[in-house]
Amino acid sequence: MYIPNHGAEFINWLSWWLLQRTLQKLPNSQLKPVYYKQSHIPTVKVNTKLTTISVQGKMRRQPSSQPNGINIEILVSLSYNKQHIGVVSKSSSEWGWGLDLEKLKASAISEVDDQSHQLTELSLKIHSNPELGFQETKASSWLTQYLEKNGFRTEQGICELPTAFRGSYGQGKPAIAILAEYDALPKLGHACGHNLIAACAVGAGVASKPVINQFGGSILIIGTPGEELYGGKAIMADRGAFNEVDIAMIVHPGVYDIATTQALACQTLDVEFFGQAAHAAARPEAGINALEAMLQAFTAVNSLRQHIKDKARIHGIITDGGESANIVPAHSVGSFIVRAEDDTYLNELKQRVINCFIGAATASGAHLEYKWGNTRYAPMRNNLTLAQLFSHNMKPLGRKVHLTDPRRAFGSTDMGNVSQLVPSIHPIVAIAPVEEGVHSPQFASAAASEAASCGLLDAAKALAMTVVDLVANPKIIIKIKEEFQQQE
Ligand SMILES: [Zn+2]
Ligand SMILES: [Zn+2]
Repeated sequence: MYIPNHGAEFINWLSWWLLQRTLQKLPNSQLKPVYYKQSHIPTVKVNTKLTTISVQGKMRRQPSSQPNGINIEILVSLSYNKQHIGVVSKSSSEWGWGLDLEKLKASAISEVDDQSHQLTELSLKIHSNPELGFQETKASSWLTQYLEKNGFRTEQGICELPTAFRGSYGQGKPAIAILAEYDALPKLGHACGHNLIAACAVGAGVASKPVINQFGGSILIIGTPGEELYGGKAIMADRGAFNEVDIAMIVHPGVYDIATTQALACQTLDVEFFGQAAHAAARPEAGINALEAMLQAFTAVNSLRQHIKDKARIHGIITDGGESANIVPAHSVGSFIVRAEDDTYLNELKQRVINCFIGAATASGAHLEYKWGNTRYAPMRNNLTLAQLFSHNMKPLGRKVHLTDPRRAFGSTDMGNVSQLVPSIHPIVAIAPVEEGVHSPQFASAAASEAASCGLLDAAKALAMTVVDLVANPKIIIKIKEEFQQQE
């Protein structure tokens, strides 16, 4: 039998709560209940100015529809002036209680502990073999091998992406997806710590097996390549990878423990200016300077940046600025990213950014060509009900996970695109000090540290415990989906 913490006290509280609700329905609103904490349960006495209401609570065991589960029905009978008022009752099954959730969660934790050595090794192996987006052949095969060895069915190359994969265990609904990323950054290696995301996802998947065995449903580990710059998940979302998924979760390493991520809508922009080459000293008047056009565009963007909404971002680099100092540059190339808090403002901002380039082209006489990236990252739609479950499950692991954090940084993630389709979370688990943020060489080292391995295991445990919450109590999923629909 399972009663949440301090069962007796809880029943007492519940009786009181039921009493309050009953009193609200009585004609005399002066009846004010006073809660007496009693050790002999379940009796609550209520004093009012008028007289005493006595409340007798009874606990009744009922058979449960769940194997090994027992429902508890609480009946509270009320008397006022020795007259019987009525009986109120509440069944524990209405809250999903009566199930030994704590026991299931404890077994999820020990499953992760059993795998801890292999998971850390897997993470370190991916870390020391960094592969760029869509080239993650080693990582995707190591991860699928791990899943196969642990009883998952796997498919590689899903959504026509050779390094994408899906591992599945169990079948039917609910279908809970845990997503893995495993691409690295050019030159910096695993400076975004995706090696940890990958090991965490497969670890959480394997640790979720017992609850799936007991209650049914399925756990999907979806390998999503090319997160940095290519928006692998956005492509996979368009190709139907998440159509059958009820809930999607991924945990990213970082410098704070946070249950929600604020990620901006974003799109990349490639720009080229075509000018006219000439001798820079002998015949400058014959040249059209494509580099100057690019520099003017930068200046215009810098001016624009003063007058855009908070959280919007525009940033870029020059990848070609000419051939030689004595030749007027005939060609320049830049790569930019434009980000905004929502899709509407992103559209507006995109036009204002292009105007900066058009202005520079007009002023310099260079010809402008530009192309927006095929993939657009959607803003993250955090599901707070789901985030609360995750945060709650991190607590026994010694991590205080804030729901949101005002100090948080605003990046973008292709998880945003998934979050627009299914209720999702993208929490952050701290593995490094604040000054060693992601996309830095320091973070790349941190992603192979002991703190990283600790973060990966904690995140895997909390994810598996959240799967327990979801699978053992379908009512939570209904609540999560209701919240998702309300956000539309
Ligand atoms: Zn990154
Ligand atoms: Zn990342």
